Amino acid sequence: MMIVSSLDELRSARLLLDGTVGLVPTMGYLHEGHLSLIRRAKAECKSVVVSIFVNPTQFGPNEDLAKYPRDLERDLKLIEPLGVDLVWNPTAEVMYPNGYQTWVEVEALTKGLEGAMRPSHFRGVTTVVAKLFNAVQPHKAYFGQKDAQQAAVIRRMTQDLNFPLEVVVCPIVREADGLAMSSRNKYLEGDDRKAALVLFQALSAAKEAYETGERDAETLRRKMKEVIAAEPRAQMQYVSCADYDSLEELETVTGKTLFSMAVLIGKTRLIDNFVLG
Ligand code: AMP
Repeated sequence: MMIVSSLDELRSARLLLDGTVGLVPTMGYLHEGHLSLIRRAKAECKSVVVSIFVNPTQFGPNEDLAKYPRDLERDLKLIEPLGVDLVWNPTAEVMYPNGYQTWVEVEALTKGLEGAMRPSHFRGVTTVVAKLFNAVQPHKAYFGQKDAQQAAVIRRMTQDLNFPLEVVVCPIVREADGLAMSSRNKYLEGDDRKAALVLFQALSAAKEAYETGERDAETLRRKMKEVIAAEPRAQMQYVSCADYDSLEELETVTGKTLFSMAVLIGKTRLIDNFVLG
């Protein structure tokens, strides 16, 4: 497994990779969710590149950039047995050298949900992912449904900017009790870990109502809100029942629908979603 950090090293290493190249972009502190993306890439591509970069431009000024968990040694130990060919671990200076001033922005899709709560988040995400695509030149890139809006935004950007690659979106990997795996779960201590289940429970309540025939989106949103409100450690940021493609809030659920939410558990901000229909 080659491990590189500079752009020159990355380019030289990339030239050594043959066949279909799959890229798995991550911010590190890897868990089974990330590993499922890597396994999928390995199954579908001859060569696999994993990037590990805590991208500063996708964090807001009051977010957790400084304390975001990092442990490269641990990550490399997890990746090595999976047969990854190349790990790219650039520094912020490599990605954003002095004088940097070029940004990639997707418009309507980034306005709601996460974009409404985190105004410059997606500009940072699309910019860094475009740079990763340009540097690595993968044939396929793997993302998790865990970050549903991110997946939709990246798909849009890839199409709009004619990146010659396929975006593959992989299912959410959960803990045995339903909590969606996330690097930020490390912040959950004591009673917060149990309280964090409220996201899965709220989504499950909406799913149950949907499966027994409920199609009024406001009723489905209310059901999710009620479950969250009953957990004293939880503070809802948003709850959404939106069209899967446009991410616009629905009045009536008809086709493929994204049920999603962001909830603060103590100081930890968690997101989760189900796709129904
Ligand atoms: P991150 O390191 O949080 O930026 O995540 C890197 C990639 O892993 C993103 O495409 C995420 O959507 C994906 N991912 C994170 N958590 C999960 C999960 N629990 N299941 C599946 N994919 C995930």
